[in-house]
Amino acid sequence: MEKIDVKLAHTSYPIFVGNGIWRRFGEALNQFYGGRQIVVITNERVWRLHGDKLESQLPKQAEKAVLFVPDSEQAKSFEELQRLYTELLSRRFERGALIIGFGGGVVGDLAGFVAATFLRGVPFVQYPTTLLAQVDSSIGGKVGINHPLGKNLIGAFKQPLFVFSDAQLLQTLPDEEIRCGLGEVIKYGLSLDKALFEYLEKKLPAALNKDVAVLSYLINESARIKADIVMQDEKESNLRMVLNFGHTFGHALEADFKFASLKHGEAVILGMKCALQFAVQNGILQREDFERGLRLLNQVPIAFDGKGLDLQRLVQRMTLDKKVKDGKIRLVLIKEIGRHLFYQVEDQRLLKQAFEILTE
Ligand code: NAD
Ligand code: MG
Repeated sequence: MEKIDVKLAHTSYPIFVGNGIWRRFGEALNQFYGGRQIVVITNERVWRLHGDKLESQLPKQAEKAVLFVPDSEQAKSFEELQRLYTELLSRRFERGALIIGFGGGVVGDLAGFVAATFLRGVPFVQYPTTLLAQVDSSIGGKVGINHPLGKNLIGAFKQPLFVFSDAQLLQTLPDEEIRCGLGEVIKYGLSLDKALFEYLEKKLPAALNKDVAVLSYLINESARIKADIVMQDEKESNLRMVLNFGHTFGHALEADFKFASLKHGEAVILGMKCALQFAVQNGILQREDFERGLRLLNQVPIAFDGKGLDLQRLVQRMTLDKKVKDGKIRLVLIKEIGRHLFYQVEDQRLLKQAFEILTE
């Protein structure tokens, strides 16, 4: 079992990573939580597939509840939040009760927001079960729900007692969810870590095939990289923006597809192609590294046809992104593999040219 320490201004906690470590969850829990009430928030699919693994590790004498939320982004809603508070209150869960978020990023974000707000905050454990949640959403403390006017607009920072990522649980994950998680892993490689990028050049096919040793290596490296960024910039003032590599272009695509046919991770992969194109066209990135990056991204199969894209509309959508300040778009680009830079866009026509890579 690997351990990555996240050290923040007011707290620090470990991320445990490994293959088959579910058998040691009880041990970790015992080390960090001494209370008597435990609430698991999950969904029926995850619980059916893996609930026995978690259940077998919970202390016998604890007062326990398993609360289910819908298996979709709709779980991150005011309605679900209210329903969960009501459940917790009517079952008399108290200040010391522990909340475990057991599922993908949807469950983790919602359970974490419940933990941040219920009785002004109760202890929390992140037990992510998707690749995306293990490499990204469970790290950094951002939790929250959606508002009818936009995604992730209501939230808090809530650091868990610990994060527990077992690659073995990913064996049941649909291929498309593996691809989405790998999108974020490639993001770390391209923008922050050349060694990780080079590992991916060799091992991406194995990762796509859910090779558990490769996945557990990737989770470990990704957790280390994201934790490192979060430690340097806990509240997203500047550096943490690097995690948006590929996302500004990606969000525009996601919005254009109405969040339906294109998944977030897939949009990020396409967005990174646009970012590479932008950088090479503006003399920021050498052609050789551009081609190398593109070659890796093209290995992830995405059912996407760029022929009907309205590029002007995409550019307009980019200017509406919530991360845009004073109407100026700040992009994350790379100047070589593993090295990012921030770039303020002065001429929006350049954005349109970047999207052209998707129509070729
Ligand atoms: P998800 O939570 O919807 O999970 C994807 C699907 O996989 C679901 O159907 C889920 O039931 C299923 N699943 C989960 N574990 C499984 C397993 N082991 N085997 C089989 N199926 C399994 O999606 P996600 O990609 O994990 O997370 C997306 C969410 O994360 C979004 O809401 C996004 O906003 C959020 N997010 C948050 C942060 C953050 O910093 N807090 C960062 C990135 C993304
Ligand atoms: Mg993302």
